[in-house]
Amino acid sequence: MTIAAAPPRVTQTRNLIDGQWVEARSGKTFDVFNPSTEQVIAQVADSDAADVDAAVIAARRAFDEGPWSRMAARERGKLLYRLADLIEQHADELAALEVLNNGKPIGEVRFADIPLVVSTFRYFAGWADKIHGDTIPVDNHFGRFFCYTKKEPVGVCAQIIPWNFPMLMVTWKWGPALAAGNTVVLKPAEQTPLTALRLAELAQEAGFPDGVINVVNGFGETAGASLVKHRGADKVAFTGHYQTAQHIMRDAADTLKRITFELGGKSPNVVFADADLDQAVAGAMTGIFFNQGEVCCAGSRLFVERSVHDEFVLKFAAAADARRVGDPFDENTEQGAQVSQEQFDKVMGYIELGKQEANCVAGGERAADTGWFVRPTIFTGVTNDMRIAREEIFGPVVSVLPFTDRREVIEQANDTDYGLAAAVWTRDITKAFALADSVRAGTVWVNCFNTFDAAAPFGGYKFSGQGRELGAEALKAYTETKTVWVNLGD
Ligand code: ADP
Repeated sequence: MTIAAAPPRVTQTRNLIDGQWVEARSGKTFDVFNPSTEQVIAQVADSDAADVDAAVIAARRAFDEGPWSRMAARERGKLLYRLADLIEQHADELAALEVLNNGKPIGEVRFADIPLVVSTFRYFAGWADKIHGDTIPVDNHFGRFFCYTKKEPVGVCAQIIPWNFPMLMVTWKWGPALAAGNTVVLKPAEQTPLTALRLAELAQEAGFPDGVINVVNGFGETAGASLVKHRGADKVAFTGHYQTAQHIMRDAADTLKRITFELGGKSPNVVFADADLDQAVAGAMTGIFFNQGEVCCAGSRLFVERSVHDEFVLKFAAAADARRVGDPFDENTEQGAQVSQEQFDKVMGYIELGKQEANCVAGGERAADTGWFVRPTIFTGVTNDMRIAREEIFGPVVSVLPFTDRREVIEQANDTDYGLAAAVWTRDITKAFALADSVRAGTVWVNCFNTFDAAAPFGGYKFSGQGRELGAEALKAYTETKTVWVNLGD
């Protein structure tokens, strides 16, 4: 195995509660794996309700009484800038740790994850002292008033994240929450806690006061559910599977928590015959195979106009066959390992199903005897009612569906429970805008795919979520609006 510039180093496996690194109160731990070798790399604190309780109490105190609520917004911003600087200084180390724990290729972590993590913290750092309300002139039959709004933090935020972008998901959650003055309790995914823990160490080094950032490791049904139900938490921000979100919504009902969800997708990627086909093939590759297909907005339903379908599929299958799958520490690797045995089995199950329902024209098998590697897999002859076209696979598996005209493809694109993203490839501006207007999805890419920026809101319609991450929109989810009325008299 080629080793990255900085050898991966596990620095922390415990919980961060009130500024202290502590074991789970029960003393229990769980194993964390390297997906490319299937070896155990760490034993991490396995938390339950008692640990969650301590973390929420710490976050509550830091919010209600601690230095955080009294700190000037600009100083909060400075801490976020400092954290971004520290991440940049430790980029090689963090990248290696992410590869070790998640299985994604080092080149992609350097190109995508690290720059997005740093820029997201800087973007929200800039917001910290720019979050303010409006003045509303009121002169009506009640009288004359000076009426104004204030934007106040929601309070203690329970943040539960998945394993596909372990560092980036921390950033999307902490950035807006901390900029707006909230305190947080984060539960990383049980598969990939290591970089979140390292980020929390760097946040301590940056100078965040005790209790502002707490991290509790563990499983969803124990640590996650306790966090969602806790009376001391004001809000839940969750990224993951829609069925987990349904569970969380029920659990959060008793305490009427504010909720934001960023969930899955079955995103349509539409190629018209007039598109630059080579560009569209490259876009389809990125759209589905980036990050091993473990992307909530993956372009897993690829609609190709019938007149170019066969030519497109030939080129696409050749590109998929040529994709370098293997050692994620090798700079030349394009696709690493799926995150876990469970995920690998799930993806292989869908591949077997696809072979019964449709034609497999690329991949269709595991890519190594050891490690959870899957060949980039393409199915043709797929119809929108097949399970491989309806259910989120979350792996490097794509369904190609031919279409004849614009109206038909828009109808099919929208014939899904999800609504996270869509893309269109065309040289015709009218078709591009028609699709952008008609697809019920939170993001539409025109002649591009998987482009992101901290300033651009991201989130889903329908089963793909509630609320938006990133951009000024994200701050709405982390603030309450207070309206103040001052009687101006006669
Ligand atoms: P996946 O099945 O792809 O792992 P999940 O939605 O189950 O996706 O997991 C995303 C995150 O949600 C993880 O951190 C997981 O531990 C957490 N989680 C799972 N079940 C629950 C639950 N019932 N309550 C709270 N969090 C949960």
